[in-house]
Amino acid sequence: MNKEEYRGVWVFIEQREGNLVDVGLELLGAGRDLADKLEVELCGVLLGSNIDQLTQPLFEYGADKVYVIDNPVLEQYRTETYMKAVGDLVRKYKPEIFLYGATANGKDLASAVATEVMTGLTADTTLLDVNVEKRLFEASRPAFGGNIMATILCKKHRPQMATVRPKVIKKPDRQEGRTGEVVQESIDLQEDDLRTKVIEIVKDTQKKVNLEEADIIVSAGKGIKDEKGFKMVEDLANVLNATVGASRDVVEAGICSHDHQVGQTGATVTPKIYFAIGISGAVQHTVGMANSELIFAINTDPNAAIFDVAHYGIVADAFEIVPLLTREFQKALH
Ligand code: FAD
Repeated sequence: MNKEEYRGVWVFIEQREGNLVDVGLELLGAGRDLADKLEVELCGVLLGSNIDQLTQPLFEYGADKVYVIDNPVLEQYRTETYMKAVGDLVRKYKPEIFLYGATANGKDLASAVATEVMTGLTADTTLLDVNVEKRLFEASRPAFGGNIMATILCKKHRPQMATVRPKVIKKPDRQEGRTGEVVQESIDLQEDDLRTKVIEIVKDTQKKVNLEEADIIVSAGKGIKDEKGFKMVEDLANVLNATVGASRDVVEAGICSHDHQVGQTGATVTPKIYFAIGISGAVQHTVGMANSELIFAINTDPNAAIFDVAHYGIVADAFEIVPLLTREFQKALH
């Protein structure tokens, strides 16, 4: 492999039903930084059907060029079609770095493309950088149960690929009117050639906790002890119009469902305000919430690790302070 032939930073732009998924725009921000350091172009890869209107925002979020394949066979995500389309583009244009959102589709596609073009992939990264001199992409992610951050390199193969967790990178500012180049490409596949057909998409209509989108999160840790303590946290959240989060220990104790869990094996959140109540601050929890704008922690232990990431800390018994806060916020806000 001649690595010198590979130049440019690419971002896979995920769209669902004709709407751009935020993580693609977040990655244009991270990709812009890498591309500027390497002095190369930043390119988006956009696949789908009737997607013309989606290219302009990509330039405004930082892309110099967008490779577009617009074909009815790409309307719904399928591993088979997307892997072929992206694999062909990689072989033809040879990018040196390729980023994907760590969404269900992004993870599936990135691993399929890695095997298709025979390169490496770092999954679920949270930090991206590049060694400019060696042109080596440095993709970092928590490892060994979150106890260390591992930086993973792909020294021998190109492109150097990573999936990146949604919400860990801030969406860049939009530069209205910024333009770039659209490169239209095609895919040589007919619906009849395909082994997989999408018959119907059935959406999960069950009410889900939407932690990723929440502006305020009030999270319960094992310090709240049981369902009664959890109810106390829910009451505070209700008064603040906030979403209820939880540590894994609370979920594992059966006090609430997994869709409340924040952290390495739960949601990564970046609310304006995060309350951590009776949470010790294990790295597997803080990796999912440390980028919140303002963190309040309540804990009886003044040495709890949560105070290392908190902006404001109250050393107190949650059972005393939380009902008090609920009452005072109720008076002030309602
Ligand atoms: P504890 O660590 O038991 O802390 C309870 C805290 O409450 C203590 O600090 C205590 O001082 C305080 N407290 C006690 N009583 C009171 C009171 N009355 N008032 C106020 N404070 C009080 N954890 C996650 O949260 N999310 C994850 O996604 C996650 N993923 C993991 C993945 C792996 C592979 C592993 C190995 C672990 C993972 N964990 C995760 C678990 C993590 O390591 C911790 O065990 C967990 O976060 C601890 O939860 P906690 O802070 O609620 O409980």
